[in-house]
Amino acid sequence: MTDKSILDEAIKSYSAVGHPLGCPRAVLFDMDGVLYDSMPLHARAWKKMCDLNGIKAEENEFFGYEGRTGSSTINILFNRQYGHGADDDLCKKLYAQKSEFFKELPAPEMMPGASDAVGAVLAAGARCVLVTGSAQHSVLDRLDRDYPQAFGIRVTGFDVQHCKPHPEPFLKGLDKAGIEPWQALAVDNAPLGVQSASDAGIFTIGVRTGPLRKGVLLEAGADIELDSMNECAKVLKWIFSDYE
Ligand code: CA
Repeated sequence: MTDKSILDEAIKSYSAVGHPLGCPRAVLFDMDGVLYDSMPLHARAWKKMCDLNGIKAEENEFFGYEGRTGSSTINILFNRQYGHGADDDLCKKLYAQKSEFFKELPAPEMMPGASDAVGAVLAAGARCVLVTGSAQHSVLDRLDRDYPQAFGIRVTGFDVQHCKPHPEPFLKGLDKAGIEPWQALAVDNAPLGVQSASDAGIFTIGVRTGPLRKGVLLEAGADIELDSMNECAKVLKWIFSDYE
């Protein structure tokens, strides 16, 4: 998307069905695949954990589970292979193993453009809120260093009963920021995350940073779909400048 008229149309459509979009007081950012180029590494770690435990899986399928909590992903694999889920202790053990394998891989790079996007929000006097299904300490602990002073408000895999695509994670983000859906924007790269944000009533920016086909985030409920976080930074600046 390089044309501002597409953004203006999307805002008009959003505002037509409910409360008009107001000047955003916060932007709710997903983490993996948005702030960090970490998804290929997660997929590798998941595959290695599965191989070690005799769980059949393809590395690419983990892109489709993006946004789920660890136990939710493990239950999908178990139900497929064994016809039943895994109990809590087993989920914890397998997720811990996957997390260890992830830590052994090179640290994920910051997603190009993400720092600019976060900077645009802070420069406009709005807040950034983290909304992730991740409970991966090795990445969460890096946020303060890579995005200084940005993500004081966080919703992680530790905070929710229901993971994305359920709206709870984004609703909790709104609640923690003390704002209504029309006072926020959401940025997510995965269909399940986009669905979660959209069902929470938030104007949702879908960013295709991974191997998804064009249009898939719009189908999941995104108000606009972009190709990169660099584009997202540009769009955020447009939105904030409209309310100056
Ligand atoms: Ca993601």
